[in-house]
Amino acid sequence: PYDGPSADEILAKRKQFLSPSMFYFYKKPLNVVDGRMQYLFDENGRRYLDAFGGIATVCCGHCHPDVVDAIVSQTKRLQHSTILYLNNAVADFAEALASKLPGNLKVVFFTNSGTEANELAMLIARLYTGCHDIISLRNAYHGNAAGTMGATAQCNWKFNVVQSGVHHALNPDPYRGVFGSDGEKYARDVQDLIDFGTSGNVAAFMSEAIQVWSRGIVELAPSYLPAVYSSIKKAGGLCIADEVQSGFGRTGSHFWGFENQGVVPDIVTMAKGIGNGIPLGAVVTTPEIAEVLTRRSYFNTFGGNPVCTAAGLAVLRVIEKEKLQENAFVVGSHLKDRLTALMDKYELIGDVRGRGLMLGVELVTDRQLKTPAKAETLHVMDQMKENGVLIGKGGYYGNVFRITPPLCFTKEDADFLVDVMDYTMSKM
Ligand code: PMP
Repeated sequence: PYDGPSADEILAKRKQFLSPSMFYFYKKPLNVVDGRMQYLFDENGRRYLDAFGGIATVCCGHCHPDVVDAIVSQTKRLQHSTILYLNNAVADFAEALASKLPGNLKVVFFTNSGTEANELAMLIARLYTGCHDIISLRNAYHGNAAGTMGATAQCNWKFNVVQSGVHHALNPDPYRGVFGSDGEKYARDVQDLIDFGTSGNVAAFMSEAIQVWSRGIVELAPSYLPAVYSSIKKAGGLCIADEVQSGFGRTGSHFWGFENQGVVPDIVTMAKGIGNGIPLGAVVTTPEIAEVLTRRSYFNTFGGNPVCTAAGLAVLRVIEKEKLQENAFVVGSHLKDRLTALMDKYELIGDVRGRGLMLGVELVTDRQLKTPAKAETLHVMDQMKENGVLIGKGGYYGNVFRITPPLCFTKEDADFLVDVMDYTMSKM
């Protein structure tokens, strides 16, 4: 049993001692004290089905025993920085991770977060090409340090940073975008940006294959990435795939999000699920591109430390052993079908989208006008929590549910989630 401070006491401390910019979901914020696989428990021992997984950071399940064992035994043995000495945990994980990537993507740089991974990817692309211009998507979220905040394209997430050399392309959003599902038309905007906004050469294009944060789960329109990658390559640039959320089997059909569009990037960045909740990120690229960092000293004190990389290796093994990618496909497809069926019942649901265990449900008060149903979204989310189900929320208007549970989510969990959503909406 938990004998720590109450939720109210923690909230009071948080208000006094923690950043005032921090936000939390729910009218009455949840005090989570334990986690087990797809469940979280509050201070009263009440169980919640976690369909958000700490924003897709939990891949194998909360406190998965294999991952915990790997962390504990490596911590007991040695925890230090990766620079200066050799250590097998780091090298073994780099090898295992490289084996999951296509083509010549074989060289790994470890970081502590997704922001750091994307910052490094942008730096590498700029060094390799000798160009400065980077194209990212409107609505993208790539991190909150100077460069990545520039590449992030939504005013909610941007402070008044000097935004140097970043261009934001039309978002190939099949639901709200001007060209519907015609990926090639959106891709022309990238060519226009190259032709009319740069010298004709660029450093990189960076995007997710399924955007998670800012618009709330958007699968890029089909054929978009192949067309964009071809324009970028002609302009001498590199293609960066941000797999911070869509990697590690989450999309079900593929291990990496970009594979859903049949492209092979030059640089892949990852974080979140890679360590099942442990701070870890990575940049993977080709030996030729990786070479640029030898021009100066480059290191990251804790990026790829043995404890985090031991966790990473355990995660890869669990994904394989428990067939979590297949599970994401089977359970995700079932969940998407059931959510889609709810659209017949509730006009409020304007769109259901995504792949695998990466699904979005957009609420609108008018299906024709697609008017965001912000208050309703908050209400349903809050009530679902009261009924024991945690989901996320996103989108510029805060009207999209984000469903990104741990990949061990079962069909019964999916049914419970939909039943609770159905019940909540029926009471509105
Ligand atoms: N890229 C994407 C797609 C993300 O969703 C996030 C985090 N939400 C980041 C990068 C930044 O990762 P971190 O918060 O670990 O710095």
